[in-house]
Amino acid sequence: MHSDAIVIGAGAVGAACARALAGAGLTVTVLDASGAAAGTSGQGEGNLLVSDKLRGPELSLAMRSLELWDGLQRELDDELPPGIPPLEYERKGGLVVATTDDGAAPLLDFAAQQRAAGIDARPLTAAEALDLEPDLNPAVTAAVFYPEDAQVQPVNATEALLASARARGARTVFGARVIAALPAASDRLTGVRTTRGDFTADHVILAAGPWSGEVAACLGASLPVRPRRGVVLVTTRMPHRIFHKVYDADYVAAVESDAASLQTSSVIESTAGGTVLVGSSRQQRGFDDALDLTAVREIAEKATRVFPFLAGASVMRVYGGFRPFLPDHLPVIGPDPAVAGLWHATGHEGAGIGLALGTAELLRDLVTGRAPQLEPGAFAPSRGTLAAA
Ligand SMILES: Cc1cc2nc3c(=O)[nH]c(=O)nc-3n(C[C@H](O)[C@H](O)[C@H](O)COP(=O)(O)OP(=O)(O)OC[C@H]3O[C@@H](n4cnc5c(N)ncnc54)[C@H](O)[C@@H]3O)c2cc1C
Repeated sequence: MHSDAIVIGAGAVGAACARALAGAGLTVTVLDASGAAAGTSGQGEGNLLVSDKLRGPELSLAMRSLELWDGLQRELDDELPPGIPPLEYERKGGLVVATTDDGAAPLLDFAAQQRAAGIDARPLTAAEALDLEPDLNPAVTAAVFYPEDAQVQPVNATEALLASARARGARTVFGARVIAALPAASDRLTGVRTTRGDFTADHVILAAGPWSGEVAACLGASLPVRPRRGVVLVTTRMPHRIFHKVYDADYVAAVESDAASLQTSSVIESTAGGTVLVGSSRQQRGFDDALDLTAVREIAEKATRVFPFLAGASVMRVYGGFRPFLPDHLPVIGPDPAVAGLWHATGHEGAGIGLALGTAELLRDLVTGRAPQLEPGAFAPSRGTLAAA
């Protein structure tokens, strides 16, 4: 039962870490209390966005991750037997629009900062935006097109990353809830106790999404990850009238907000199956998953401001999950400052699918002592901005 590395959590982040570590020659065991993509990775959307990231370390991680996503399907086609569902990776492009006078200048300023960081962010006139999306509200006051924004199907992606990890020698143990650290002679973590027995390893990687705070506590560490609820509306099948990811400029403010109260913004897209996905809300209310009709109403109202034809749409389903939120809005990737042998790869909030591959690459480099592609300091669990929390 000994491995070089244990990964706790079989969501997108844990799956990507397992694949990267196994690819570096480590023996890896993935432990999950439930199963593949059973947590937030199966309860959100699969946007791979650069358009919503402020200039800084998260944007750099997103850009590196997008490069890796771009080549992943080809790599998997070489590695995996036929029959594994495709990632449904598509570089669809994102269109961000403001529909108020107050919203226009901040959107254009934000895009200018991103261009300075190397992002392809193209301001459009209202007429150009309507060329891209003919059913858009013509009263749009500003619009920016991001051709690099892409998407995957997050459950397929998680399953495929796990299948690839297994093809590289990793094993997965499902229904194994981590409940404690193994008693050890030294102050180094030597393994974990689970509901399916004990597992030892040289390195334990915590990738338990919104549950990472509580799992860290049972391993003797402190990590201020909190759940941040989000819901998405799904319409019945409609004629295909939305061609990109289209979202209102409020979205960036909602992502960056620290408020525990309800924040909503609209992120709208048609799916291949003919439904329209309309996300989303942000709210800190623990793991309370009761349906919040205020959130549903606000999301719907904002979506109809962007696409007035949606006022006639029927909502077939509302689903949601809990984003793994950290108070300084950056994931933790690196060694725990207090518990030797414990590593973190979590706290990606609403971008864990998009950031999974860059996270896994950075974590692999740190665990194996390779020179990292990205500057790791901003993501270090020991950083000062987390200390107060
Ligand atoms: C409504 C909504 C929309 C979203 N849209 C997007 C988007 O468009 N793009 C994007 O990039 N991100 C999006 N996200 C965020 C994204 O889904 C998350 O950041 C990401 O799924 C986190 O992945 P993870 O692997 O860290 O965690 P999870 O997927 O939650 O996986 C954690 C795993 O840990 C396991 N676990 C928990 N406790 C234990 C334990 N004690 N022992 C063993 N296993 C344990 C769980 O069973 C789970 O399988 C969205 C989230 C929501 C809620």
